[in-house]
Amino acid sequence: MTANRKLIAGNWKMNGLKADGLDLASDLAGRLKGAGPVVFDMLVCPPFPLLFPVGEAIADSPLALGGQDCAPKTSGAHTGDVAPTMLKDAGCRFVILGHSERRADHGESDSVVNAKAVAAHKEGLVAIICVGETEAQRDAGQANAVVSGQLAGSIPAGATAENTVIAYEPVWAIGTGKTATPDDVKAMHAHIRAELDGKIAESAKVRILYGGSVKPNNATELMAVENVDGALVGGAALKADDFWAIATACR
Ligand code: PEP
Repeated sequence: MTANRKLIAGNWKMNGLKADGLDLASDLAGRLKGAGPVVFDMLVCPPFPLLFPVGEAIADSPLALGGQDCAPKTSGAHTGDVAPTMLKDAGCRFVILGHSERRADHGESDSVVNAKAVAAHKEGLVAIICVGETEAQRDAGQANAVVSGQLAGSIPAGATAENTVIAYEPVWAIGTGKTATPDDVKAMHAHIRAELDGKIAESAKVRILYGGSVKPNNATELMAVENVDGALVGGAALKADDFWAIATACR
């Protein structure tokens, strides 16, 4: 995987049992293998219990595996947590951190996300750090300031274009069917690109994903926006046809 290819990442959230996950991942892995050269990297992030079986099923394919979260520690008395070493052991190369659902449901602050990214980097995992404003913050004209604060607090020292991906996910667009307009996405991604300067080595090469109700019918337009280097996809990542259509919309 290289930083100049688009990354199409599927966040399965808390969906699917073992058979569903195996079907979906095997289908995508088969399509990738049969497709010949493609212009995108593809990643699936199943729930924790599915990581090992899915990892084994896709091990000989270009489909990458990621976790949806990790602990900021490598082991110890942390009931319910999953260490980055465990993700590595299951075959993960990526981990999503600071998703707005974790920030909201588990009170994850920027400093917690930062500590998790440090731990992920130590294990050689690529951290996909999520940022994005709420609808109220956007309406109040605070979107850029909110995202700047999240980037400043969440990106750890030692972040590079190789070990870090940023996902811009306006909270009001996640799972709602509402999508940011291409002009709003363009403006925010340009803002993020500028903010990364000085925070991440080779900031021009950092992949900045858009997430928020990306579907087959809007993917072509969104993936063509300047500084959009891929997508983080929730609902549409659960159907192989839809996820594949989003990926192949990349040019
Ligand atoms: C997400 O959960 O990261 C996401 C973008 O979800 P959806 O595509 O369903 O809006």
